[in-house]
Amino acid sequence: MEDQILEKLKKELPDVQKNIPLKNHTTFKIGGPAKYFFVAKSKEDLLCAVKIAKELKLPVFILGGGSNVLVLDKGFNGLVVKIEILGCKAEEDKIFSFAGTTLYDLADCAAENSFSGFEWASGIPGATVGGAVYGHAQAFNEKVSDWIESIEALDIKNLKTKFFSKEQCKFSLKNSIFKKRKNLIIISATFTPKKGNKEEIKGRMNKFMSYRKNSHPVTFPSAGSVFVNPEKRGKVIRAGELIEKAGLKGKKIGGAQISLQHANFIINLGNAKAKDVLALIKLVQKKVKKTSDVSLETEVQIL
Ligand SMILES: Cc1cc2nc3c(=O)[nH]c(=O)nc-3n(C[C@H](O)[C@H](O)[C@H](O)COP(=O)(O)OP(=O)(O)OC[C@H]3O[C@@H](n4cnc5c(N)ncnc54)[C@H](O)[C@@H]3O)c2cc1C
Repeated sequence: MEDQILEKLKKELPDVQKNIPLKNHTTFKIGGPAKYFFVAKSKEDLLCAVKIAKELKLPVFILGGGSNVLVLDKGFNGLVVKIEILGCKAEEDKIFSFAGTTLYDLADCAAENSFSGFEWASGIPGATVGGAVYGHAQAFNEKVSDWIESIEALDIKNLKTKFFSKEQCKFSLKNSIFKKRKNLIIISATFTPKKGNKEEIKGRMNKFMSYRKNSHPVTFPSAGSVFVNPEKRGKVIRAGELIEKAGLKGKKIGGAQISLQHANFIINLGNAKAKDVLALIKLVQKKVKKTSDVSLETEVQIL
């Protein structure tokens, strides 16, 4: 039965693979296998993959750079579609980018064309434009939505593409319509950033990159900040500070540890399992609720 599914998938997607360890596709370096795994390099690939998965009633998970996901140890019993639809083009007053372009390449393309607005994204390892739009990525008081004109997305329900204006994307703190409506797959983004001085833009990129190198535990695998910074009485509080206050900095479970450098990061010391990370997440949520009366929500997407 299983091999029949593989055969049917292979007819439409000759490069589909079976039992691929997802730990090799996440920055956490954690996670069991995807039963089926396919890399979409074009819009046509993506449409084809979604269509056949629908026909075969296979659950689909869309993967970008894997820098914001925790894949469970049991893996994913369906088709993982990794978005590698690449390309970024600057026009007179716009930048167009496909979803699989890395944030780093987007920032670089912007800088080369003297556009300012993506310097904050320099140094986020692996992250793609699609993943950043989905989770409304932000840093240093700047957000991916600041310069968005429109987003093109494929609707799994009717297999049609649709353009969303910035307002229709419903961006809020680490959230967007794409996080709420899982039937939408981001294909491309059009930005209208402001013009600036190329040297100053590159200088800002370098400044943010060295800040990250010095303040984030970059030598260990992680998925960045695990918890969304919560809002209390209209004020954003740093989740890391609450975790520190709860006395959990450096706490280890199995091969996972709450970073000593940045308490909102959980690092993989080498052989962490997803269950170790989940146990730390639960512990943090319980202790922070007790010490600060705040319910922390995970920013990391759990698969
Ligand atoms: C060291 C480090 C530092 C980080 N610093 C920051 C930071 O400063 N600011 C910040 O905001 N984040 C940060 N992150 C987290 C992460 O990089 C971002 O959330 C990033 O935007 C995720 O992009 P991705 O392509 O890796 O998405 P993935 O991790 O692959 O996926 C995340 C979610 O997005 C969905 N998704 C991905 N692509 C698409 C698509 N095309 N269409 C629909 N859904 C999609 C996935 O299904 C999944 O649910 C950091 C991570 C690391 C490891």
